Amino acid sequence: AQVFSNVPLAPPDAILNLSTLYKADESTQKVDLGVGAYRDNEGKPWVLPVVRKAEEIIFQNRPEHEYLPIGGLASFTSSAATLLLGKDNVAFKENRVVSFQTISGTGANYLGARFLAKFKPQDTLVLLSQPTWANHQNIFNTAGFTTQNYRYYDPSTLGLDLQGMLQSLGDAPNGSIVVLHACAHNPTGVDPTQDQWQQIADVMQAKGHFPFFDCAYQGFASGDLDRDAFAIRYFVQRGFECSVAQSFAKNLGLYGERVGCYHVITKTEQSANHVRSQVARTSRAIISNPPLYGARVASTVLNTPELMAEWRDNLKFMAGRIITMRDELRQRLVQLGTPGNWDHIVNQIGMFSFTGLSPTQVEAIKTKHHIYMTSNGRISMAGLSTHNIDHVARAIDDVVR
Ligand code: PMP
Repeated sequence: AQVFSNVPLAPPDAILNLSTLYKADESTQKVDLGVGAYRDNEGKPWVLPVVRKAEEIIFQNRPEHEYLPIGGLASFTSSAATLLLGKDNVAFKENRVVSFQTISGTGANYLGARFLAKFKPQDTLVLLSQPTWANHQNIFNTAGFTTQNYRYYDPSTLGLDLQGMLQSLGDAPNGSIVVLHACAHNPTGVDPTQDQWQQIADVMQAKGHFPFFDCAYQGFASGDLDRDAFAIRYFVQRGFECSVAQSFAKNLGLYGERVGCYHVITKTEQSANHVRSQVARTSRAIISNPPLYGARVASTVLNTPELMAEWRDNLKFMAGRIITMRDELRQRLVQLGTPGNWDHIVNQIGMFSFTGLSPTQVEAIKTKHHIYMTSNGRISMAGLSTHNIDHVARAIDDVVR
């Protein structure tokens, strides 16, 4: 008998599949709107100039390559926490912020899930937005949690289903873990307004739910680091204990270096100390010591005032290009008289937009026009450029009619 004869073939990964099809397409008109990474106007990956400068500083210092402590590079994790919460946050003064370096945002979600699975009651549900980043369910299920969806996106308005969301959160068992996208919701691009966050917090407080923020796009969404941290700061200010999974993949363009943090904000210094000791045990089992290089780059940027200022400019540049592409795409669809309302393209924010195209239209735009996007109609705004936007607008117009 074979050891692995009972292992079935896993379903193919939808995104990887898409990029294989894109690569095989020989048309000169082809456009990749699947990628979840920033591209410049020439469709090329963009190394942030501030990252190049930080790398030069690091190499001049001829660094060694010893192990980091389990918690990671302290100069990085503490400034990463400051970036999230703001430097004057009372949680710092009260020593109730716990921060661990992780394998980017994915590792932060996983570390948090594994830690919470040990200390939350066994039947605690994890609530995920419908839809959400495909890996959330995978991560929380792997950590042993049962997941359930809360209503979030309303296909009829291509916006937030606030009433549905509040109702789902209200109907869920008390003390559930609620995964919230801090900004630039993936895949829809639909974020609550500040007033809507307040209503969400009201229900969560009444229900004793635990907020688990996934923050993968701070500064990349609006171009403003503080503005994109609003929801997290607001919940902390209201006295919630919460978790944050933080990624520097998008905002520093350090995708492959896997730079991230898992933070827990507790009520007291004593529980922070206990939580810190337990997260350390959990992280030890998964990675022992986090990787050094990317954390050094991020730390150099975050702790050097001139580089911090330059990073803010780099972020405005990336977010600005994406926001311009949103405007330009909408304008073209309006000019073409494409049936439907296209305001959602500019109302949505961040890397992605939910176009509202049906699976049939997504298939048609691929076969007829060589434009590749996920079957739910999500497009990566970073895949658009001044070179392909006319083609994309005309193609959308064609498949919608
Ligand atoms: N959460 C969300 C919502 C994301 O969109 C992503 C990136 N696709 C991640 C987490 C994690 O990305 P990474 O592990 O590359 O930081």
